[in-house]
Order: sequence, then C-alpha cells, then structure tokens
Amino acid sequence: MVTQIQAVLAGTISDEVKSVARAEGQDAEYIRDEIAAGRLIIPANKLHLKSNLRPIGIGRALTTKVNANIGTSSVRSSIEAEIEKMDVALSAGADAVMDLSTGSNLDDTREKLLARCPVPFGTVPIYQIIEGRDVEDIDNKTILEIIERQAKQGVDFFTIHAGVLKEHLPLLEKRVAGIVSRGGALLAKWMLYHNKQNPLYEMFDDLCDILAEYDISFSLGDGLRPGCIADATDDAQIAELKTLGELTQRAQQKGCQVMVEGPGHVPFDQIQYNMEIQQKICNGAPFYVLGPVVTDIAPGYDHITSAIGGTAAAFYGASFLCYVTPREHLGLPNANDVRAGVIAAKIAAHAADVARGLKGAAEKDKNLSIARTNLDWKTHLAESLDPQTAERMHREACKEIGAEQLPSADYCSMCGRNWCSVRINREILDFIKSKGMRKA
Ligand code: SF4
Repeated sequence: MVTQIQAVLAGTISDEVKSVARAEGQDAEYIRDEIAAGRLIIPANKLHLKSNLRPIGIGRALTTKVNANIGTSSVRSSIEAEIEKMDVALSAGADAVMDLSTGSNLDDTREKLLARCPVPFGTVPIYQIIEGRDVEDIDNKTILEIIERQAKQGVDFFTIHAGVLKEHLPLLEKRVAGIVSRGGALLAKWMLYHNKQNPLYEMFDDLCDILAEYDISFSLGDGLRPGCIADATDDAQIAELKTLGELTQRAQQKGCQVMVEGPGHVPFDQIQYNMEIQQKICNGAPFYVLGPVVTDIAPGYDHITSAIGGTAAAFYGASFLCYVTPREHLGLPNANDVRAGVIAAKIAAHAADVARGLKGAAEKDKNLSIARTNLDWKTHLAESLDPQTAERMHREACKEIGAEQLPSADYCSMCGRNWCSVRINREILDFIKSKGMRKA
C-alpha cells in the first residue's frame, strides 16, 4: 500500500485525485502534480475512505476550504449535542470537521461522529493523550498508542504540535497573551517540568510512520500562535514556523501529506506578510489559518473579525480557513453559533476566490445578480450562500407587504413598490426594447 503522495510521485492518478479534479473542474494531471510538489493535499485516511469519506483537495490550485471545529468540553459534554453541531456545520457547507473534544468518552464520541462524517475529519491527539492524567506524566508509549488508536478509527488529519521547541519558550517573555494554543501550552508545561525537548518533535519520524501507514495528513500545529494582535508576527511565532518548515520537508520525504497551521490574531496589515512567509518557509505547503482574527475588541462577533482576516489570508496565500464562531473566547459554541461561524467563513473563502480570479467563482455571483435583476426570487434565494436564512427573511418581508405570491413579488419592504429601483430598471429596459432604442 502506498500513500497518496507516493502514488502521485510514481505518476499514478488515484481515484481520489480524479474525484477532486471532477469536483473542482480541474485537470487530474494538474492536481497530481500539485500533490507531488507538496502544494496540495487530499486528507483521506484509507479506513475512512473505505466507509463514507468523499475526498476533498486543499491547496492554492483549488477553491478555499472551510473547517468547523466541534467537540465536547470538560464542562459540557454530550455526544448528541456534538452530532447535532456536526450536522449543522455540514448542512451550512463546512468542507471538513475537527473533533476537539476534551470531555469524557473521547473514543466513543469520535467513533460516532466519524461514522456519519462524509468530509475529512481531524483531531488534536494531544487532548486525549493527557485525558485522565497530569500532563507531566505523559510518556512516549502513551503518545504513540493514542495516535495509533485514533488512526485506526479513520481520522484523516492530525494536528501535531511538534514545532514548539524548548528553546522557543524564552521568546514568550515579552508577550501580552503568552501561549493560547491548548496543545502548545500543555507541551510547554511538559518541557519545563522535565527540562527535555518536545516529545512530538523527538518522535517525529515514528509519528510519520504511523501517519503514512494510514495515509493520514499532518496538520502541523502552531502551538505558539499569537493570541492577541500585539503578539502577532513576533519572534516566538516565526521561530516555530521555521521548525514547521523543517518538519514539513521531513514528513513529505516519509510519504506524508502536510498542511501547516497558522495564526491566530493578526492585524489586517500583517496578513499578507504572514501568508507569504509561510509559503516561503514551508515551500508552498497548504496553509490552514485559524481566522485570523484582525482585532481583539469584538467578543461576541469574532465570526466577523475572523471573516475579515480570512478573506485577506485566502487572497494572499492560505488554502484552508478554520471557522471562528461568535462565541469564541466566551464559551463552548452551540449549534446556532456553529452555523453562524461556518457561513461567515464560507463568505470569506468565496470572496477571496472571486478576488483571485479562481475559475467559476465569480460565475456564482453573476448568476445570482441576474436573478436579482429579473426579480426572480426563486433563483435568487436558491443560489444564495445561505438559502435557509435568505428564504426566511424574504418570507417575513412578503408578509410585511402583503404579497401573496412570494416568487412573483416585484418589490420588497426595503424600499417599497414605487421606490424599487430593480423594478423601475426593468421598466426602463422594457421601454428601451419596445422603442427599439439602440446605443448610438
Ligand atoms: S424594494 Fe429595494 S431592496 Fe427590495 S428588491 Fe426593490 S430595490 Fe431591492
């Protein structure tokens, strides 16, 4: 059995490559070459592929993808609630899902979620590695055992915080927000307690062997990502990124596909530099960004702060946006928060795809605009990114104006009939046509 990257290096065009090429309207050879160059990945555990996975591709050659994080916390834990959140995320258009559970029954939660998850499914194994034990007590055997256990369940990509090194920790002294990554903070505590190097870094070759066996993709975690805009692009973040560049190469040489995780909180004017430096250091490996959130002052609205950053990031170099929900920094998101987060990230991704001229992206906008201009509400609503919300709002508006036939309403409550410029425009066009008026 070979991995996806080994297959493409041998010139093979796998079924997964063909399926991604079909879905994105691209040549299969092009997808194959991008995978071979390490610029595109198809996260697909062989076991998940055998059950219900529909493979997707992540890379600059393709549309920008969106991930939704779900998962129990140690305070609130219910498998049913997480299943509901995953279903909501998928129906809103999430391209991938990460289970970040830290509550109880982690194996059972993961198994139940995976059984109904048709998209790439990621985890952060360090969370389970410390479950039921103090972080100081984790050892190499436990780490490998849990990673292998999750691999056998069919997880498609693992966040592995192997880039946080002992020598990076003094660089945190000047930070405002310190370490905000859960994985990064736990590993830093372990390194300081034992005065040893990060065990995930030390065992990186062993991890590559497990991931290659199941063809799981690395999502190299950014344990030192900035947690506030004052810490963005600091020495600690860049030092870790350089280590991630080295690990990207090592994993690819062992036959593993790799994407790299990135910040975090980044002011708008630093996003371009952050994207470009990652692409340079990691040799074009797909960049998976967490937001980025462009201002710290809007708790309750961080789906918006991250969508602003997400568009810039995807325009300048990111391939994969991790959503942020309105409840970020405040509490565990519920299903409504998940929905709002996915929609915001999808808008950010699409806006970037339009701006970078990706094949077919602007067509969707044009089709909707034609329907809007024709007052063709049925198509207008159906083609929208969130038809459910658009239809509800249109129904409510029609009630306000007393329109009986929703699809044929020729104005809405925003301007009223006499002020409806769309309707007036149609009259103008009809008039021009009837008089045979032509441009001089
Ligand atoms: S009434 Fe105003 S908002 Fe509504 S369709 Fe006409 S122009 Fe658009």
